[in-house]
Amino acid sequence: MTPAFDATTDPALRSWVDVPAGSDFPIQNLPFGAFVRPGESSARLGVAIGDSILDLRIVARAGLLEAGLPEAETLLGATTLNALLARGKPAWRAVRSRLSTLLASGNRELHDAGIADQSFVSRPGARMALPIEVADYVDFYSSREHATNLGKILRPDTEPLLPNWRWIPIGYHGRASSVVISETPVVRPRGQLKAANAEAPVFAPTRMLDFELELAFVTGNGPALGSAISVERAPDHIFGVVLLNDWSARDIQGWEYQPLGPLLGKSFATSLAPWIVTLDALEPFRVDGPRQDPPPLDYLAIATPQNYDIGLAVELTPADTRGARTHTQTIARTNFRGMYWNMAQQLAHSSSNGSRVRAGDLYASGTISGSEPGTYGSMIELSWRGANPLALADGTTRAFIEDGDTITLRGSCDRAGAAHIGLGEVSGTILPANGA
Ligand code: MN
Repeated sequence: MTPAFDATTDPALRSWVDVPAGSDFPIQNLPFGAFVRPGESSARLGVAIGDSILDLRIVARAGLLEAGLPEAETLLGATTLNALLARGKPAWRAVRSRLSTLLASGNRELHDAGIADQSFVSRPGARMALPIEVADYVDFYSSREHATNLGKILRPDTEPLLPNWRWIPIGYHGRASSVVISETPVVRPRGQLKAANAEAPVFAPTRMLDFELELAFVTGNGPALGSAISVERAPDHIFGVVLLNDWSARDIQGWEYQPLGPLLGKSFATSLAPWIVTLDALEPFRVDGPRQDPPPLDYLAIATPQNYDIGLAVELTPADTRGARTHTQTIARTNFRGMYWNMAQQLAHSSSNGSRVRAGDLYASGTISGSEPGTYGSMIELSWRGANPLALADGTTRAFIEDGDTITLRGSCDRAGAAHIGLGEVSGTILPANGA
């Protein structure tokens, strides 16, 4: 299948705004985020283009976004995307299409309105904010390779995949209020830890702090409580995707998770990238996923390709003894296209009992791992629970994440004939446990 380009993803499209070669954010991307202008306290909505952010409040106030969206000034003058998300895909497309026109080479409307200068801020160094008020947060477990690895590590004497895994996109409810914007420091959590040979647990800072390489999708509103979203209609409810790091304390998680699933081992922090890339921008990179065996039940069966070819990388940057960060190294590379359960199936399953889907809901993929050792999306897999510590360029080794370490996740899409687009990055640095 060769995905089609529309007017906004046409690789021939150019912008009058300067876009450095290889930028994650050419005019074909136009991801949405929220930023805080110097001297201001609340966020504004923006769209990234090249090394700039277009201030949507200014553009909307000038009346330039009202074509197809009469309430643009209210929706885009907000501090989060939630009001726009609630309006649904026709509104999302109207804004994206209009922004593409305004930023395309030859367009003079921002100049004619006298706002061409004041509408842009520099993207590097800009203070970013959460682009959505997270309504509900769900985390899935949809990489077969990751689920198999974790099964081998945690339950070595049994079949790695539990019997339900091939039938259900397994997931759990996370904590929406713990979702933080990229670059927010993460305090090492304390919790109950129990060594395998110990009689009783202790309450102490986690000794097995981990990251999880994930992509999340953001939704608009679904139907009323009691009604489900069909798998075919599910993509219509998905606004876009965003990089997410599901920080995990493996020792807290390992002691608490049976029989009801993760709770405090996950809910201390979840880092979100600042830019949400729309599903429309990703359309040139939509591909078939792995064959599903057994065939999914009817409510999860969808004939059209629903996976996306998105290259992903994990970087670890340790702090040296002076706190400087000079040794960044890539510790994993993988691709989103290999996920067993796709986003349409995750959303359809999530709403299949009639539970509500709300504007600003966040659904994370689960750790994205490939089949080779260098493609694993978590430290517990890369070091095989500490059995094979990673050697770092600064001469140290890592079984898990240490205080002062910075983890950065990146994502980008490349296909012959299509414009390169990227998801930017999400990073977080670990601070010592409080009172430690
Ligand atoms: Mn996770």
